[in-house]
Amino acid sequence: MRCSLQFNRRSLLATSAAALASLAAPRLARGATARVVVVGGGWGGLGVVRALAGTPGIELTLVEPNSAFVSCPLSIHYIVGTRPFSEFEHSYAAIDALGVRRIQEPVIAIERDRREVVTKSTRLPYDFLVLAPGIEYAEDAIAGFAEARDRLPVGFRPFEQHAVKALVERFLSEGGTFAIAVPKPPYRCPPAPYERACLVAEQLRKRGSKGKVVIVDANPQPLPPPIAKPILEAMRTNYGELIEYLPDHEVKAVDLAKGTLDCGVADVPFSFANVIPPMRAPGLLRQAGLAERWAAVRLPDFRAQADERIWIIGDAAGTPLPKSGHVAFNAGAVVAQAIKRALAGEQVAAGGSELPAGICFAAVTHDRAIMISVESSFVPGEGAKSRFHVDPAPSRESSEAAMNWGRSMWRSMLG
Ligand SMILES: Cc1cc2nc3c(=O)[nH]c(=O)nc-3n(C[C@H](O)[C@H](O)[C@H](O)COP(=O)(O)OP(=O)(O)OC[C@H]3O[C@@H](n4cnc5c(N)ncnc54)[C@H](O)[C@@H]3O)c2cc1C
Repeated sequence: MRCSLQFNRRSLLATSAAALASLAAPRLARGATARVVVVGGGWGGLGVVRALAGTPGIELTLVEPNSAFVSCPLSIHYIVGTRPFSEFEHSYAAIDALGVRRIQEPVIAIERDRREVVTKSTRLPYDFLVLAPGIEYAEDAIAGFAEARDRLPVGFRPFEQHAVKALVERFLSEGGTFAIAVPKPPYRCPPAPYERACLVAEQLRKRGSKGKVVIVDANPQPLPPPIAKPILEAMRTNYGELIEYLPDHEVKAVDLAKGTLDCGVADVPFSFANVIPPMRAPGLLRQAGLAERWAAVRLPDFRAQADERIWIIGDAAGTPLPKSGHVAFNAGAVVAQAIKRALAGEQVAAGGSELPAGICFAAVTHDRAIMISVESSFVPGEGAKSRFHVDPAPSRESSEAAMNWGRSMWRSMLG
């Protein structure tokens, strides 16, 4: 199953070619070096960097504030204490060795009129800009969240795993009710909250502490819909009353003093809460006129609707594709091809094409997981269509495939 979804180079070439047919790329002077700036050294940004590094005629700069890459995929095993953090943290040394210039600062502005991105200490002129800054939490959607932010770690962005692990540790030793609140889609990695509930419940039983996990779900069933049946079945058979599932409970407000989540239909009491707020593209993109809730891009090549020199990939992009690291990484290769062809001045006939595919895993125990894979295609005039394939039941094979998948992705990015 994994093999059928591997990155299809031929389809990506077709994708970028199709994109270029409808969008004439800005041209550079003959013989000039193209300055390509990539913002964000996560799954999407590294996909572009790996595919563009070493291309003659391109000067590549990566802007990323963190000193290392941390994977959100599979990091649940660190949060519940079954694997070390070092498995999920990887240095950018391989990127440096490729001759890519790396600026370790956040971008604070994108000045499209001057074609420059701005950090605290420098201004970076670009000919082509690729934005892959991931997501920000829409804290304002939940009353009381921003004020209590420090005590409500989310853990859906790199490095936040430490704070969530500390929260889970306290719950596992003190017991009580651990509430995990799931927002309405679109959000990053839809199966991840249910996976978190299962693996926390597994540790609860192992430790023999008195307590339960409550999933406070804004949705009528677990997401994505094809996973609802196997995940609910896995929760019931593995954990029984250790997991309580509350569908159609959208958190409107959090009251830390009282220890309740106000869901309109009911107040849900908790001892510890992991509230996952609604998500959106980072404010940087809104300030640059590139996004409302999500960045406005054109498929199939992810070019910004507002600017021919900018591509936006990964979870920040508003597309029907799932917000997945694998999809983000493969989208990086699509954009790299589009940039290369733009530089070569190539024009190819437009048509339908495959879009980046991806795989996601939902662990239900430390050694059993459900594999979810998605393949998408783009049909002109109709847009993107996705097909999901979901394991009918959790298995040891998918759990092993998950770690193998992670290692092979991290090698492709940073090996
Ligand atoms: C618990 C969990 C489990 C998951 N499991 C899977 C899975 O099994 N399979 C899968 O495919 N996906 C999975 N995902 C989803 C995956 O992590 C995301 O889809 C992926 O990280 C998106 O890539 P991205 O490049 O858009 O964002 P990120 O990977 O978050 O990268 C964004 C980067 O941009 C940087 N950045 C942010 N702002 C700025 C700025 N102003 N200037 C410069 N840099 C900036 C950040 O520091 C970060 O390094 C999971 C996610 C979670 C939370």
